[in-house]
Amino acid sequence: MHELSITREIVDLATDKAGGRRVTRIALVIGQLSGIVSDAIRFCFDVCACSTAAEGARLDIEEIPGRGRCRVCGLEVPLEQPFGQCECGSVRIEVIAGEEMRMKEMEVA
Ligand SMILES: [Zn+2]
Repeated sequence: MHELSITREIVDLATDKAGGRRVTRIALVIGQLSGIVSDAIRFCFDVCACSTAAEGARLDIEEIPGRGRCRVCGLEVPLEQPFGQCECGSVRIEVIAGEEMRMKEMEVA
């Protein structure tokens, strides 16, 4: 379950940035093609944040839908997996959104 190590990194990053202050809110952006399960992050968060400056912080997760661009005709297509097919018949789709995972915002007390 790689979400556990990802969540640990998020908590480390947030508490580092907070510089000893209490973290009250963390907002994450998770792409739907990233392979990261939001519910698993939520589940791990309480465990990872326990006894840190981020204990009790609110966790907001924004999910970004997958999007690709056809390398042949340039059309943008929605993607539910990191591959797909364009209306023109091409399967040469470049993923342009949905693979990211980052911390968008955080708030400290
Ligand atoms: Zn196309």
